Amino acid sequence: MKFSNYPITDEVKRGIIGLGFKKPTDIQFKSIPSILKGEDVLGIAQTGTGKTAAFAIPLVHKVQTSSIKGRKDGVRCLIMVPTRELAQQIQGVFNKVGKYTTVKTYAITGGVDQDPQIDKLNKGVDILITTPGRMFDLISQGYLSLHRVNTLVLDEADRMLDLGFYKDIRDVLKRLPKKRQTLFFSATINSKIKKLAYSLVNNAIRIQISPKDPVSKNVNHFVSSIDMDDKRFFLENLIHKNEDKKIMVFVRTQVRAERVSAAMERVGIVSLIIHGGKEQKERNQALKKFKEGEINLLIATDVSARGVDVPGVELVVNYDLPDVAENYVHRIGRTGRGNQKGDALSFVSKGEMELLLAIEQFLGKKIPEVEISKKEYQTVLDLSNEKSLDDLLGQIEFELENEGKKSRKNRKKKK
Ligand code: ADP
Ligand code: MG
Repeated sequence: MKFSNYPITDEVKRGIIGLGFKKPTDIQFKSIPSILKGEDVLGIAQTGTGKTAAFAIPLVHKVQTSSIKGRKDGVRCLIMVPTRELAQQIQGVFNKVGKYTTVKTYAITGGVDQDPQIDKLNKGVDILITTPGRMFDLISQGYLSLHRVNTLVLDEADRMLDLGFYKDIRDVLKRLPKKRQTLFFSATINSKIKKLAYSLVNNAIRIQISPKDPVSKNVNHFVSSIDMDDKRFFLENLIHKNEDKKIMVFVRTQVRAERVSAAMERVGIVSLIIHGGKEQKERNQALKKFKEGEINLLIATDVSARGVDVPGVELVVNYDLPDVAENYVHRIGRTGRGNQKGDALSFVSKGEMELLLAIEQFLGKKIPEVEISKKEYQTVLDLSNEKSLDDLLGQIEFELENEGKKSRKNRKKKK
């Protein structure tokens, strides 16, 4: 089925043409009719399979054709997501789908001045995309009301229903009309969260694509055993071997992101950093430079593991394994998006074997290993610029020392 045959407005169809989509992906094919009918949906489909448009297309159509006019009455659709970058990205998709309609979509996130956001809300917003923090700030100050919201979407739903966010979601639910449509989307979900999701809706229809393997079929993923102290040499080597590729490197903590970036800088490799400790402006700038290809190496924590859609990322490196098994799927899902293919390699030290087992248990299979022979391993260490820099420094020190000895001798001679 082509998008042109869907029972959606011509304006939305033009928006889809603008996005360059010809036919729906599986998850779009399955969810769009249900969402148009007003049903509750739990859509589980692999990373990069177009879940955003799976809800954006029917929701823009519904708002556009809604009989309730006058958007001063307040927001109709509320989309909640875990990170600011994701909110902005989804806003971009909605704006493209709704380009030829009068539907107003807006993303409200923290980390930036709230006054322009209040202005926008006052002018009228139909579809609001938010991270919970700033939204509650605006609600408590009386700038935002949710009493007209007839559709709630939780993207990265398992994350949104996770402990950290669950209280916020309950708070939101209390403010929404009882009669509403609820949509959940994610690439991963466990049975506990699934139950929780079902408890929040009337009759969720479960729409699941490729439930057996949560990893996108477009991603080839492997592990290699590498000692913790040697990881930087292997990253350096991998970057040199993939010089022209866009690469995303995931690490476990903010401090490690800074350290890995500094280690790369020492060997002449420039990188961008995104983590939760950075100013929002810096995070946005880093993502922009990465997207535009100004710098092709992004070092990030799990804050960028979910949802981020940067076309052209060809390689994901798990410099550290994630603490939470499902984040493995999300991290490596930053490559192989849409019709593209991608590779992912995880550096696993001895201390990380348990994490690896947990991930393999979550996936229900072993991740193939790229074995590195002793000789190859040593070559990577020897090839490192850091080593040659160290050697060079050592050489200089040695020469200076000798010079010193010589001049001391000379001085003695002179005496
Ligand atoms: P997900 O949320 O499932 O991880 P996204 O919604 O971010 O995936 O979409 C992944 C990529 O696929 C995006 O770059 C998007 O433009 C592209 N895409 C989505 N739907 C289609 C389609 N029907 N045809 C071609 N490309 C698509
Ligand atoms: Mg997504």
